[in-house]
Amino acid sequence: MATGSWTQTRGRASSSLSPRRFHGRLGYESVGLVAENLRLHCPPAYPVLVRAGKTAPNIDGFCVRRDRKFVITIDYGLQVDCVINCLLHEWAHALGWNYRLDKAADDFAAGLWDANEFDEVAHGPEFGIAYATCWRVFVRWVVPVLEAA
Ligand SMILES: [Zn+2]
Repeated sequence: MATGSWTQTRGRASSSLSPRRFHGRLGYESVGLVAENLRLHCPPAYPVLVRAGKTAPNIDGFCVRRDRKFVITIDYGLQVDCVINCLLHEWAHALGWNYRLDKAADDFAAGLWDANEFDEVAHGPEFGIAYATCWRVFVRWVVPVLEAA
């Protein structure tokens, strides 16, 4: 006689879905594929410009809001799978951007907050939800294309 029930998420290891899985097999055009799917399936409030550039040491990328657009800069020295990881992360910042983050960015720029305090706000619950959304877009729409290539 059953005394309870159990349930589980679908049993596919998340590591098998990570960009890391495709390490060494991806060209930089796959970054465009990821960006295209993020734009289509989870567009932020404003358009997003994604560019390669030089970032500070130990910073893979960053996202800023400039008036009515977001600019994501990703370090040009990264391997493709790391670029994709970074793009998913930074896109989540654009997707989850809110007034509180605007204020935090202003306060941080004015020297009122330290980097840890700013990071707490920038990676709060809104970011987590946005990041999960970006991750689902990657898993549902991008991974099948990469696997078929
Ligand atoms: Zn971040």
